[in-house]
Amino acid sequence: PFDVLVVGGGPSGASAAIYAARKGIRTGIVAERFGGQIMDTLGIENFISVKYTEGPKLAASLEEHVKEYNIDVMNTQRAKRLEKNEFVEIELENGAVLKSKSVILSTGARWRNIGVPGEAEFKNKGVAYCPHCDGPLFEGKDVAVIGGGNSGIEAAIDLAGIVKHVTVLEFSAELKADTVLQDRLYSLPNVTVIKNAQTKEITGTDKVNGITYIDRETEEERHIELQGVFVQIGLVPNTDWLGETVERTRTGEIVVDNHGATNIPGVFAAGDCTNSPYKQIIISMGSGATAALGAFDYLIRN
Ligand code: FAD
Repeated sequence: PFDVLVVGGGPSGASAAIYAARKGIRTGIVAERFGGQIMDTLGIENFISVKYTEGPKLAASLEEHVKEYNIDVMNTQRAKRLEKNEFVEIELENGAVLKSKSVILSTGARWRNIGVPGEAEFKNKGVAYCPHCDGPLFEGKDVAVIGGGNSGIEAAIDLAGIVKHVTVLEFSAELKADTVLQDRLYSLPNVTVIKNAQTKEITGTDKVNGITYIDRETEEERHIELQGVFVQIGLVPNTDWLGETVERTRTGEIVVDNHGATNIPGVFAAGDCTNSPYKQIIISMGSGATAALGAFDYLIRN
């Protein structure tokens, strides 16, 4: 069996595996796609100490660093079941069952897509999902935020301090964000909120130039000219495969303590798949290190 088996090969999984392997213990990584979300990321400007890099380049560095150690990397393999008995067992889609004394879950998350024409086409060309990451790229420009929940309104408030104007498009008749956030939003001079707005299309040529929506009250179609669209309708953790085994929040995030431990002894978790409040590369790497050290502590006590 492994001492530490990491499920997920994004920044948090790579970090967890390196921290574990540096303890001289038997370490493996199972990943559906090594690199994770950063494989879909163009510019990265907030990975501290690196002024600018690109996702695939960072993923290649992660892989190179992991390969410095004796880590068994099982890429393009998807985990489908976790069971705790004498060991923690991870069953893969291909039928193989891996046994380990401890497991670190680092399967990440994905932004929920709005699924309208133009979204996929203009990804990284005006369509964005992460205000902390891409907000500064829209300095002085007009943008829309789709979604009036907490993340949408937080994004709108954040962006209003950087961009020229923010239009919030909310599908239903009311914003769902907390009242304090709504109050703050409405106090800002450069924000417009449009409710009952069903996004129909993100328009553009080589990059985004506008958004078309249907006013659900009047059924009229409207168009706004702008340069950026932030889709904020939810971040979905890749944790469905865990079923009822590991404790998760209502939205599916794995609940961890400050050692990265879950409710199951020997099972740890890190990164975007957990209930950590902010989802960023540097944060997921930190939590991967925490989970590995937590797992090592567990191993020397059991
Ligand atoms: P992920 O990167 O999601 O990795 C998850 C890993 O688990 C992958 O290897 C995946 O294949 C694997 N996996 C999933 N399910 C299974 C399974 N069942 N079995 C086996 N493996 C599985 N953050 C920043 O700090 N700066 C930025 O500029 C930035 N820009 C971004 C731009 C975009 C377009 C996106 C989508 C995200 C961006 N982020 C940015 C966020 C950042 O990418 C994430 O916070 C970070 O990748 C989280 O790392 P993670 O290891 O927790 O998860």
